[in-house]
Amino acid sequence: MRTTGIQELLKSRSLLFCDGAWGTIFQFAGLKPGESCELWNRDQRKKVLEVAQSYVDLGVDMIETNSFRGNGITLAGIGLENDAVELNRLAAEISREAAGDKCLVLGSVGPTGKILMMGDVSENEMYDTFAEQVHALEQGGADAICIETMSALDEAELAVKAAVENTDLEVVCTFTFVKTMSGDYKTVMGITPAQMAEKLLSAGASIIGTNCGYGMEAMIPIVKAFRDFDSNIPLLVQANAGIPKIEDGKTVFPETPDEMAGHVPDLIDAGVSIIGGCCGTTPDHITAIMNKAKVYHTANS
Ligand SMILES: [Zn+2]
Repeated sequence: MRTTGIQELLKSRSLLFCDGAWGTIFQFAGLKPGESCELWNRDQRKKVLEVAQSYVDLGVDMIETNSFRGNGITLAGIGLENDAVELNRLAAEISREAAGDKCLVLGSVGPTGKILMMGDVSENEMYDTFAEQVHALEQGGADAICIETMSALDEAELAVKAAVENTDLEVVCTFTFVKTMSGDYKTVMGITPAQMAEKLLSAGASIIGTNCGYGMEAMIPIVKAFRDFDSNIPLLVQANAGIPKIEDGKTVFPETPDEMAGHVPDLIDAGVSIIGGCCGTTPDHITAIMNKAKVYHTANS
């Protein structure tokens, strides 16, 4: 049965699961460096559907869409600005087709790559770009919007507002934090988890969290920082499979499924609500995470 949303699911279950990386698997499937993942929604639909299906088959509660770089500003960089509406609608349609009524679909929205402070783009242009993208994702059948890998507060706030004001969907927003010299976590723009939470919750996000970053273990202090700010807000964590390394000219993510899963009990104790994966994670990583969480839950209930 199709549920009404993430917050509704969290009323009956304290921990939910999301999918892992898509781009990583597209690379295995032949995506070339510099090639647009989003174009595959039109040109390689079957391959995109297979990735979506591989996560649905694990029994996760939600999967994302292949639209992370699908905003019009980013697509303009490769001459595809006029395709933004179609590529986002297709992204949501593909994930919806795989998900059916079995799980929720989160429309993925990534950063534009432009910095408002630098005057690269105006606030209106950025807002309109996000509004176009989220509307197309909703049209294609997304249940929620997931604004992710953000580091600038002003850009994330515009994206959240665009989603709140132009769709009827739940809005998730996750930031990428890096470890500072003093050992705490801030975005590359200097934003703390508490600053991010305060601004985006008031902009209308209903679920916040963190994605990408330094691997699973580094997510634990970030979750604790969010929990110090707010003990109730649903928190989504999607860690990378460790810090990427270059081996033989290829990007390699070192954390194995078991290594990532090993940190799940501490992540649960810190107060995470939804666990998925970011760069370098595969269905095997998500399976290990889900199994570990189930064993831990059983042992503690
Ligand atoms: Zn990532």
